[in-house]
Amino acid sequence: MLLSGKKILITGVANDWSMAWAIAKRAHDAGAEIAMPYAMPNLEKRVRPLAESIGAKFVQECNVQNDAQMDALFGAIEQEWGHLDGVLHAIAFSDKNELTGRYADTTRENFKNTMDISVYSLVDLTRRASKLMDTGGSIVALTYFGGEKSVPNYNVMGVAKSALDSSVRYLASDLGRDGIRVNAISAGPIMTLASSGVGGFKAMLRLNAEQTPLRRNMTLEDVSGAALYLFSDLSSAVTGEVHHVDCGYSSTGMIPNELKDILLKGLDDNK
Ligand code: NAD
Repeated sequence: MLLSGKKILITGVANDWSMAWAIAKRAHDAGAEIAMPYAMPNLEKRVRPLAESIGAKFVQECNVQNDAQMDALFGAIEQEWGHLDGVLHAIAFSDKNELTGRYADTTRENFKNTMDISVYSLVDLTRRASKLMDTGGSIVALTYFGGEKSVPNYNVMGVAKSALDSSVRYLASDLGRDGIRVNAISAGPIMTLASSGVGGFKAMLRLNAEQTPLRRNMTLEDVSGAALYLFSDLSSAVTGEVHHVDCGYSSTGMIPNELKDILLKGLDDNK
C-alpha cells in the first residue's frame, strides 16, 4: 500500500485504454483516494462507470480551457478533501489534420490551441494544486520522445512536449522548497484515443517494438508502475526529471542489426 491515505487528482481519463485510467487503478490499488474529472460531456458515459469501480470522487466536467470548470473542480476538492498529495497530467490535444505531413505547415490557431491544452494546463493545474499540497506532493506529467527528437507526423505535438518537459523543470524549481516534486514520464508509444490521431501510428508501433533494446512496446502495466513510484515516497529525492519508460528506445542511436539487414536488402531489391 505505497500510496495509503494519499489523495490524487487524475486528469486525462477518456476510456479504459487511457494511460490515466491504468494509473488511476494502480494508485487506487495502492491505497490512494482518486479524483477523476472528465474533459467533455460525451466522455461522461465512459468515465463514470470506471470512476465508480474504484470509488473515485469529483467525477465532473473539467475542460482545462474553461476557467469556471477548473475553479469548480478545485473548489470542490478544497471543500471536501481540503488537501491534495498528487496530480497526474495526462492531457494532450491537437488538430488531427496537422499530425501528418510537415510541421512547417502548422497553423497559428492550432499551434496556440495545442500549446494551451497540452502545456499551459500543466502550469495551471500545478499552481492550483500546489495551494492544497500543504504537506508536499508529487505532480506527474506524461510526455513523449517526440519532444526531444523529431518524429515523423508528431509535428506540433512534439514541440508541445518539448515545452512540457521544460515546464516540468521550471515548476520543479519553483515548488521544490514547498516539498512539491514535479516530474514527467516519457512513455513509449501505445494505442489510445489520443495516439490514434497521429498519422501512421500503427506502423510506428510495429517498428518501435522491433527497435527497442527490450524488443517490445511499453505496456499500461509499465507506465502505471512508474507513476506509482513517482507518486510514492520511494522517489522522495526525484524532481525536475523526465523519466523514460520506453523499453530503452530513447537510449539508442541506430536501428538494430536485424532491421538494418532487412532495410538494406529492401533498398537493394528496389534498385
Ligand atoms: P487519451 O486519449 O486516453 O488521453 C488524452 C486525454 O486528454 C483524454 O482523456 C482527453 O479527454 C484529454 N483532453 C484533451 N483535451 C482536453 C481538455 N481541453 N481538457 C481536459 N482534458 C483534455 O490518450 P493517452 O495516450 O493516454 O494520453 C495521455 C497523455 O499521454 C497525453 O499527454 C499524451 O500526449 C501522452 N503520451 C501518449 C503516448 C501514446 O503513445 N499514447 C505516448 C507518450 C505520451
